[in-house]
Amino acid sequence: MKTCPVPCAFVALHSNDMASIRKHLLEGNQCRDAWVALSKLVQDARQRKDCLERAAILAPDDEELQIAYLEARLAVQPNDVFAQQRLNEIHTMRLLSDVKTPYFHEQPKPRLIGDILVSIGAITEAELHEVLSEQRRESLLKSDRRLGQLLLKRGLITPSKLAKALIIQQQERSRARTAPQVLGEYLVERGYITAAQLEDVLAEQIRLDQRGKRLSLGELLVRMRLMSKEKVDQAAREYENLFWSKFS
Ligand SMILES: [Zn+2]
Repeated sequence: MKTCPVPCAFVALHSNDMASIRKHLLEGNQCRDAWVALSKLVQDARQRKDCLERAAILAPDDEELQIAYLEARLAVQPNDVFAQQRLNEIHTMRLLSDVKTPYFHEQPKPRLIGDILVSIGAITEAELHEVLSEQRRESLLKSDRRLGQLLLKRGLITPSKLAKALIIQQQERSRARTAPQVLGEYLVERGYITAAQLEDVLAEQIRLDQRGKRLSLGELLVRMRLMSKEKVDQAAREYENLFWSKFS
């Protein structure tokens, strides 16, 4: 068995000749293009679906092909819930990536929390590596959030240090426009609170989180008497409006 390149030169020459395409496949060629060409030549919906399925298996990353296959499945079996869900997912992903392009540019990769913690001297390079490898051993999700929790658990950093790093990370991301500004950042920018106060609030949020208590930024601001409930609500509304105005 051999795998044909895409595009396949043989199929390009014989795309309308069903006998030749069949023969090409019977010779054992793993040929995406041959199955696609065949799917256009067959009359029966079920056969069409089978051809596209084989093509899709040969080119799993080809989204157009996935869509054609799923639509062919639905043509045969309109109640195919799986196919409908997959199609919806693909369409949603496409919509989201369209929405994102104008505002969230593909930017140089934002720094990870571990790198930021090293750069502000909160942990050493060696400690980071140790925790990262432990993280891998435990096969945890390699997310920033997890790393922060692990470092806290092992007492390598304090909640304040993590809060500081999280603020730096968010600033870098919103400057690079890879993420929208978060509420906390907005509050500092508009002078509702100071940067130091934001750090205190986040540190407190992390401390509470460690004890299994989840409080929102707004709730904490009120609780720590940094802003009144009315001010928080007002600022949250302003922030919300600003956020959505970027998409229109
Ligand atoms: Zn071929």
